Amino acid sequence: MTQQLKSRIDALPEQSLRDKVILITGASDGIGKAAALDFAAQGAHLILIGRSQEKLEAVYDEIERSSDTRPIIFPYDLNTLSLEVAREMAYAIEQEYGRLDGVLFNASILGSKMSIAQYPEQEWMDVMNVNLNSSFYLTRALLPLLEASEHGRILFTSSSVGRKGRAYWGAYAVSKFATEGLMQTLADELGNTTNIRTFAVNPGGTRTNMRTSAYPGENPADVPEPSIHMPLYRFLMSSQSADLNGNSFDAKDFSAS
Ligand code: NAP
Repeated sequence: MTQQLKSRIDALPEQSLRDKVILITGASDGIGKAAALDFAAQGAHLILIGRSQEKLEAVYDEIERSSDTRPIIFPYDLNTLSLEVAREMAYAIEQEYGRLDGVLFNASILGSKMSIAQYPEQEWMDVMNVNLNSSFYLTRALLPLLEASEHGRILFTSSSVGRKGRAYWGAYAVSKFATEGLMQTLADELGNTTNIRTFAVNPGGTRTNMRTSAYPGENPADVPEPSIHMPLYRFLMSSQSADLNGNSFDAKDFSAS
């Protein structure tokens, strides 16, 4: 399957996301920023969420310079997201576009690397809020808009530690297991009754601030840049992935060389 899919990814036409409306969380840096730049270059209209207004504005400027689309930026701390606020975001998107073609749930925090026995209670809640609960609230609020699309896509971001438990990865690892579970549950609920397709991608080791925090001793030059994963992300967001649903991918199997 991997080789076949790689061929399909390679064959994806230019402008494969032309006029699609896509929301990305954690779009101000790292992998989310790379996805924002890539999707904009492919013609998508973007709604970008991140914590830092300054960083989001820098992404806006880069997109304005390099493509013919203008994103909507939405600085918001997802740790404080509620269903009510998610519904307000959905309402704003509905007023502007009337539908949503894709969501990339990418924002995450690492939290402390320590044993479950010592894990700080508040930090556990913070990691769960940003990495998992915000995706739940946004999914609930955005589903009607995704159903209004011909090819709705929900792309979750996982991790190796969300597939096999690893000591000292604490709330982060548990949040990623739950993210895979949320993805699979949604895929099963929506696959037969809607056009929405749901996937998870584990980017694997990628050169970002989060990676440096997790592996401070590593030489960043030894780790691939986020842009290398974008052909897979683009394919999953496109209408070409309509025959798939509920899959978990390792980005390294599909990365551009
Ligand atoms: P990153 O460079 O640290 O970027 C994280 C992004 O999430 C930033 O845009 C950040 O916004 C945003 N964010 C964090 N907390 C937020 C909050 N409370 N509210 C709103 N936005 C928030 O991380 P990354 O490495 O690109 O990671 C992207 C995804 O890939 C994550 O889901 C991560 O778990 C996953 N992943 C990464 C690796 C890797 O090696 N890099 C490996 C496996 C999985 P600000 O910049 O504005 O704070």
